[in-house]
Amino acid sequence: MAESKNEKLFSSNPDAAERVSDSQNYGSTNFIKTIINEDNEKNVYGGRVHTRFPPEPNGYLHIGHAKSICLNFGLAEEYNGLCNLRFDDTNPTKEDTEFVDSIMEDIRWLGFDWEDRLFYASDYFDQLYEFAVQLIKAGKAFVCDLSAEEIRDYRGTLTEPGKESPYRNRSVEENLDLFERMKAGEFPDGSRVLRAKIDMASPNLNMRDPVLYRIQHARHHRTGDKWCIYPMYDYAHPLSDYLEGITHSICTLEFEDHRPLYNWCLEALELENRPKQIEFARLNLTQTVMSKRKLRRLVEEKYVSGWDDPRMPTISGLRRRGYTPEAIRDFCERIGVAKANSIVDLAMLEHCVREDLNLRAPRAMAVLKPLRVIIDNYPEDQVEMMNAEINPEQPELGKRQVPFCRELYIEQTDFMENPPKKFFRLSPGKEVRLKNAYIIKCENVVRDEKTGQIVELHCTYDPETRSGTDKANRKVKGTLHWVSARHAVKAEVRLYNSLFTKDDPDEGGDFIENLNPDSLEILESCMVEPHLASAVPGDRFQFLRQGYFCVDKDSTPEKLVFNRIVPLKDTWAKIQKANK
Ligand code: ATP
Ligand code: MG
Repeated sequence: MAESKNEKLFSSNPDAAERVSDSQNYGSTNFIKTIINEDNEKNVYGGRVHTRFPPEPNGYLHIGHAKSICLNFGLAEEYNGLCNLRFDDTNPTKEDTEFVDSIMEDIRWLGFDWEDRLFYASDYFDQLYEFAVQLIKAGKAFVCDLSAEEIRDYRGTLTEPGKESPYRNRSVEENLDLFERMKAGEFPDGSRVLRAKIDMASPNLNMRDPVLYRIQHARHHRTGDKWCIYPMYDYAHPLSDYLEGITHSICTLEFEDHRPLYNWCLEALELENRPKQIEFARLNLTQTVMSKRKLRRLVEEKYVSGWDDPRMPTISGLRRRGYTPEAIRDFCERIGVAKANSIVDLAMLEHCVREDLNLRAPRAMAVLKPLRVIIDNYPEDQVEMMNAEINPEQPELGKRQVPFCRELYIEQTDFMENPPKKFFRLSPGKEVRLKNAYIIKCENVVRDEKTGQIVELHCTYDPETRSGTDKANRKVKGTLHWVSARHAVKAEVRLYNSLFTKDDPDEGGDFIENLNPDSLEILESCMVEPHLASAVPGDRFQFLRQGYFCVDKDSTPEKLVFNRIVPLKDTWAKIQKANK
């Protein structure tokens, strides 16, 4: 259902589709807080705020879940309340402890804590069964023998009322007997269900005698073979919320039409202190698929290396890529919560990452596509240690030392033999500054005789121009990053681009068709500053002029591997500036 909403959103004119601007939400209030404030004023829950995050353990969490996590845990924090983690594990066949473990790891990594309030919907199976018996006794639920297909046919449409099931008026005794025997395993899958007795003419299809329990002879990852009937989400959810003392049950917009059923379950059982369901718009991101079904397909059909492939929008993928929890939380704060669906530009998430990493990532120099440079007039065995800032945003960290010698590497793209007019990098007869070092001049280009490829450049340096001591303070237009060829460490660098070629990956029908064939580029012979040899997985750096990079989990002391988190160029900041 949510997907079809997305499709509608994307298929309309993309300029007309509302794009979220980050300035409007930052630090502000939202409609959910307004509801909570009103409840507190009227003393509806005695001032309590108790939320929950209810993932189904059938996949890894993604950035959309992060929005829900930040919202639920964030509200609890703000109102001095509590937030539970509840695994919504009512569907025995699709769930797995691998997912349970990854979900807990991801929430903790994002910086949230459910303390001792870890729950499973399956913890309540006994209680939910008792509630169902209570509904039967009150004449509010019945066992129905129609097949799934017949139930669908009887249901009617948006324009036509449904038809009542011929089993609707069974006696309480017969219903109790049949329900107990459903539980005892006497009937095969699909032969019977327990249904709420509400209203087959309701304009809301969810209220037309919805199914509460189904028979499923399947092993459950927590309750084993104890049960062969399982409660439906729409029944289990409000009652789980009630049992945990939840006050505000926050969910995404596709559940709006289910709210009357949510309330019906609580009212039919005459429960007090009923939780309140509140819906908000889910996060949609450009160039990103967010449904677990689609993410699972990418993993299972091996379009990516796993759930934590750095191109995945999963929390584990973003973590491996090098995103920080702070950046993700900042992003969730900026996008805010709204009642209307919208699409957020991926560039905004990347902007948040850059802002955070700019403050905290130490700087380093790395040459991704090396071109050898010989400084002919530099003494053969001399090595100078050049001072370079660790992070200009944190001057208190001081300087690092970068070795400089006669043989260096610069970026292939920083040299052109026949440059266009505004090329301020290196070319024959021209000068550039090497960052934190000297001004050099290109004297001579050496080519491979056979291939004609440029193999090295011969340059001269101006000894008077050492950075920091350059009295003449001579200015040149270009400044290049570099590494010492004698000291640099070889590394593999993985450059990531968007996983999809379209803003809407579903454009044209099948998102697989829109996969970007160039989403991963591996550079195997990069050269990085020697001190990076000791970097360990998870360490993040800004490579000068290149972007932010993170040591991958595949990295070893023998073979360093870096992921590009984001390039430096910030398209979002540009858009924001242009709009001002
Ligand atoms: P998917 O559509 O990706 O399979 P789901 O809603 O089935 O997601 P759940 O495990 O049920 O996944 O989600 C747990 C919670 O996270 C729910 O409350 C759900 O509403 C919320 N959530 C899921 N996707 C998003 C999203 N894109 N934006 C905000 N909240 C989301
Ligand atoms: Mg769900």
